[in-house]
Amino acid sequence: MPTTLRLFVSADLSAGSVLVLDDEQSNYLLRVLRLGVGGEVRLFNGRDGEWDTAITSVTGKRATVSPVSQRRPQPAPTSPAMTLLFAPVKKDETDLIVEKATELGAVSICPVLTQRTQTRTVRLDRFNKIALEAAEQTERLDLPAITDLAGLDQALDVLTPGTAVIFCDEAGDEAGAPWGGDTGRAGPARAVLEGLRGRNAAILIGPEGGFTPEERAFLRARPDTFAVSLGPRILRAETAAISAMTLWQAVCGDWG
Ligand code: SAH
Repeated sequence: MPTTLRLFVSADLSAGSVLVLDDEQSNYLLRVLRLGVGGEVRLFNGRDGEWDTAITSVTGKRATVSPVSQRRPQPAPTSPAMTLLFAPVKKDETDLIVEKATELGAVSICPVLTQRTQTRTVRLDRFNKIALEAAEQTERLDLPAITDLAGLDQALDVLTPGTAVIFCDEAGDEAGAPWGGDTGRAGPARAVLEGLRGRNAAILIGPEGGFTPEERAFLRARPDTFAVSLGPRILRAETAAISAMTLWQAVCGDWG
C-alpha cells in the first residue's frame, strides 16, 4: 500500500467532521486496499489543507471517515502562477500533457484551438480525472483548473492582466518573415524566463503542425508576449510542454 495514500474530496475538512466517501473511493479503500475500521487515509479538498483521517465505520459498501489532525495547512495560492495553454494533440499525448502539467504545478490547464490543431474536441471529464489522480499522487494540495477548449485569442484574452505569455515558437526566427528578424526574436528560453521572474506566466505550446505565420505575427505583436526557443531541435508538443514547464519552475517557480 502506498505510504502516503491520498484522496481528493469535495467536502469540507475539519477536526471531528464525518465524511461518507463515495462508491468509487469506498471501493478503493475497502476492496482494493482491503482497509477496514481504523484504516488511515490522507484527504485534501483544495481549501482546508491536508488531513490525516481514519475509517470510523463501514456501512454496506460505503466507508465513513473522520479527520483526526491537519497534516499540512492550505498554502496561499502559488505566486507567481503558471498556466499552460496547449493545442490538443493525439489522445495519449494529450493525456500525458495534462498529467505532467498537474505534477509540474500548473494552476490552470487550457486546451486551445490553433489554425493547425488536428484535435477539435476534448473530453473535460477525462482531463479532470487525470488531473485529480495526478494531484493525489504528486501530493498537491489543490487541483489545477481545467478550462474548456477555446480559440487562441479567446484563451489569451481571459488571462489575468499582466500575465507573461511565453510563446514557444519552434520556428525560431526567419529574418525575411514579417514576424522574424528583430521584431520579437525568439530568445533562448532560459534567458527570457530570467527576465520574467515574479510574473504570472502562461506557457503556449502549438500542435503537431506548429504555428502559422499569421499566428506568429499576431502573437509577436501582442503586449506581454515573449517568443522563446526551446533549442535547435523540433520537440514533440508533449516534450515541449514538459520542457517549458520544467524550465519555468526551475527559473521562476517553486523549485528555487
Ligand atoms: N512544426 C513542427 C512541429 C511543432 S512541435 C514540425 O515541423 O514538425 C509542437 C509545438 O512544440 C510547437 O508549436 C512549439 O510550441 C513547441 N516546440 C517544439 N519544438 C520547439 C523549439 N525548438 N522551440 C520552441 N518551441 C518548440
